[in-house]
Amino acid sequence: MKILKHLFDNNREWSEKIKAEDPTFFEQLALQQAPEYLWIGCSDSRVPANQLTGLLPGDVFVHRNVANLVVHTDFNCLSVVQYAVEVLKVKHIIICGHYGCGGVLAAMQNKELGLIDNWLRNIKDICHKHEEALSAIADQQTREDYMCELNVVEQVANLCHTTIVQNAWKQGQALSVHGWVYGIKDGKLHDLDVCVTGVEQIPDVYRIFRQRILGK
Ligand SMILES: [Zn+2]
Repeated sequence: MKILKHLFDNNREWSEKIKAEDPTFFEQLALQQAPEYLWIGCSDSRVPANQLTGLLPGDVFVHRNVANLVVHTDFNCLSVVQYAVEVLKVKHIIICGHYGCGGVLAAMQNKELGLIDNWLRNIKDICHKHEEALSAIADQQTREDYMCELNVVEQVANLCHTTIVQNAWKQGQALSVHGWVYGIKDGKLHDLDVCVTGVEQIPDVYRIFRQRILGK
């Protein structure tokens, strides 16, 4: 029994269209993947990494979770980052949030949602940390948008604090960590200008090679 037939029909059309443009596309891709980018984005169905950046299969390694979080105890995300950085040698890691993120909005409320509350706690910590700046914004929409941006900025920091990223920098590997936010209403990406390219750009306490930085 073939269920979800329309998806298989779509897939056949899609693969034939690509083959018509480049007959060896899939054969070449089957040999190896060498993406330049790792995308860490939200699971939200409206934020598909490849489509909104116009990238083809093979171009971007992807990890998605609710509200695009990088949590230091999340071995799923960390394993993806390790493989992308150490094996695939990606040059850029993009953490992409989006305005109207359900995870961020849920974390800003006082409502019990179940298991996910434990995941959203990570975002609540950010709300608490930036409570003063957030409460100074009267307009709710603006406040929510700002919190979606703040969440990305904090995840960029979390990622830069990992041993994986810092080891790559220590070994002289070119690796940039970017923070972007996507507008669901207009389909546009916005660069939050928080790109980090080296250990000297992160706070001292988070540096795992402190002695080397201080030249000791
Ligand atoms: Zn989201």
